[in-house]
Amino acid sequence: MDTLFSLQDQTAVLTGAGGVIGGAMAKALAARGARVAVLDLALDAAEKVAAAIREEGGEAIAVQANVLERESIEQAAAEVTKQFGPAQILVNGAGGNKKEATTAPDLSFFDLPPDALRWVFDLNFLGSVLPSQVFGRPMAERNEGVVINISSMNSFRPLTRILAYSGAKAAINNFTQWLAVHLNQGGASSVRVNAIAPGFFETTQNKFLLRDEKTGNLTPRGQQIVDHTPMGRFGEPDDLIGTLIWLVSPAAKFVTGIVVPVDGGFSAYSGV
Ligand code: NAD
Repeated sequence: MDTLFSLQDQTAVLTGAGGVIGGAMAKALAARGARVAVLDLALDAAEKVAAAIREEGGEAIAVQANVLERESIEQAAAEVTKQFGPAQILVNGAGGNKKEATTAPDLSFFDLPPDALRWVFDLNFLGSVLPSQVFGRPMAERNEGVVINISSMNSFRPLTRILAYSGAKAAINNFTQWLAVHLNQGGASSVRVNAIAPGFFETTQNKFLLRDEKTGNLTPRGQQIVDHTPMGRFGEPDDLIGTLIWLVSPAAKFVTGIVVPVDGGFSAYSGV
């Protein structure tokens, strides 16, 4: 079992890892023995995660990177390679939604501003494609590596209100399959690409939809989500760890091009 799930001598890069889900994943990979590069647009957030990993005896560095700028990712990759060697694991964790791209009583579909829609679509789609280009190239050349994309429940069936976020996560599922096939057929027959589709987790990017800003109570939408989750709760970041370790370790060496829901049953429940 130790060999099957070992990450010894592996370098892992996680984007958006200053955030709630990416941060938990970074800590878990480090705890399994990987050297971890914590990438985020917010360097202070990345540094906090890297420091917490080092305090636990793990190996981690924080690197600032904007997943929407190829040059910024190239610079981060150079830094990671210098410190830890080429990455064998890439987790595309940067993503999120924002109010301006979300329909509301005072913002109809007909008035959603193109800039906000583009921002959300780019962050969640292009923001996984560009790091996969930069970190995926050496993986393809060395025929060694794993890419994990972070999808969402709304990739299978759109959720109300969050138009661009739903569309971009559906595109992520498609990209996961596309890149898996592309890399294998291009000669990198051992490189794998998979996605995790989390259910609902309370994090920075969705707080405004789940909790009332003033009271902190669940919004009607937050309550609806819990009611529609057979296990009756939001997910905790640790709920994602077992699936992550399985997908990035030799235990999943013949698994590629799949999207694994980790959702407390949300996607299985019709609502009746
Ligand atoms: P979060 O807001 O806690 O973390 C997102 C992180 O991404 C932040 O640290 C932010 O600084 C970083 N980031 C934003 N723009 C960036 C950029 N251009 N370049 C680099 N980093 C950038 O949110 P989270 O919920 O932990 O989100 C992590 C991933 O999980 C996202 O892809 C999100 O869509 C996905 N997800 C979240 C949920 C949920 O319920 N929270 C459900 C399904 C999927």
